[in-house]
Amino acid sequence: MGTPPDTLGDMIEATTTEALAGRPDLKSLTRDELRAWMVEEAGEPAFRGDQVFRWLHARLARGFDGMSDLPQALRVRLGSAARIGGLELEDVRVAGDGTRKLLLRTEDGHRIESVIIPMQDGRLTQCVSSQVGCRIGCDFCYTARMPVRKNLAASEIADQVLRAVEVLGEGERIGNLVYMGMGEPLDNYDQVVRSIRILLDRQGQDFASRRITVSTSGVVSRIADLGRDVPVNLAVSLNASHDVQRSRLIPINKKWDIAQLMAALEAFPLPPRRRITVEYVLLREVNDTPEDARRLIAMLRGLRDRVKVNLIPFNPWPGAPYGRPEPASVDRFGATLRDARFNVTIRYSKGEDIGAACGQLDGEAVAA
Ligand code: SF4
Repeated sequence: MGTPPDTLGDMIEATTTEALAGRPDLKSLTRDELRAWMVEEAGEPAFRGDQVFRWLHARLARGFDGMSDLPQALRVRLGSAARIGGLELEDVRVAGDGTRKLLLRTEDGHRIESVIIPMQDGRLTQCVSSQVGCRIGCDFCYTARMPVRKNLAASEIADQVLRAVEVLGEGERIGNLVYMGMGEPLDNYDQVVRSIRILLDRQGQDFASRRITVSTSGVVSRIADLGRDVPVNLAVSLNASHDVQRSRLIPINKKWDIAQLMAALEAFPLPPRRRITVEYVLLREVNDTPEDARRLIAMLRGLRDRVKVNLIPFNPWPGAPYGRPEPASVDRFGATLRDARFNVTIRYSKGEDIGAACGQLDGEAVAA
């Protein structure tokens, strides 16, 4: 992690800052951290940490009582000294296209959403949230309008996947995981990285690192840290072809402008045969013109072999200040980039009829 805690005590404290009961949340610890906690805090051998980790992240245990390969006395002690964080599943809504939106509740009563999306290749992609609300304030995003803002704990991020596993049907499996739900992942860096390490662990959900993508609005100071700390895929929401336009749409551009963002993408330690995804939400007559396409090509020219461009026609939500682009302008925009030999995909969002499409997550829609 970019700024790792100095001691185990610091680590536990950082993990439990918002713990309701003041007890450490063992589900927010990586396996190495849990092994260390067992030795230093519980006076137990390190392998007990492996056992608890497997119960929490592979066998989906919700309490210490059922951890049948732990001595009964230890289970009782863990129950009073520690806690198991996570989420309650409140509701699942299914869209006409098969997209499933999970409404989940945190221990302190906040609602978040996670979306399971069927892809063309038959795989399922899950979009997870990293915060309640978001302080980046992108002008086209519904989540940005939420009044509540809170970082999710690693257990609350990883639990979105564990709760999804429980609702999957026979033979279904989450194939890809994208940190593109509510929140800016790199604004909650330590908990996001910890959740990734938990989900990658072979004794837990055992995700392949190439199947996990973290999407940022451009928190340049953390992009290199992410590449160094976990070998996941990077996606960047660019969404503009020049600085004035981008600063209006994504205020973080005033802090780190396009040139700084491009330099960060160039320096990102890309694993072999991977590309950075450049997300570009097309807003009608705002950033979807032929001039925008030409400026985008000039901006990305030096990165052509390192990026793929994902064009996303905007999904208007009620009261949105932007409109959906005309299909012809989407096609023209994509063709212009392809002519310049860019790898381009056009992604039409799914789950619009249940408010599960990109930029529509608000944590309240299902319950309303
Ligand atoms: S688009 Fe992402 S980064 Fe921007 S406000 Fe919405 S959730 Fe935050």
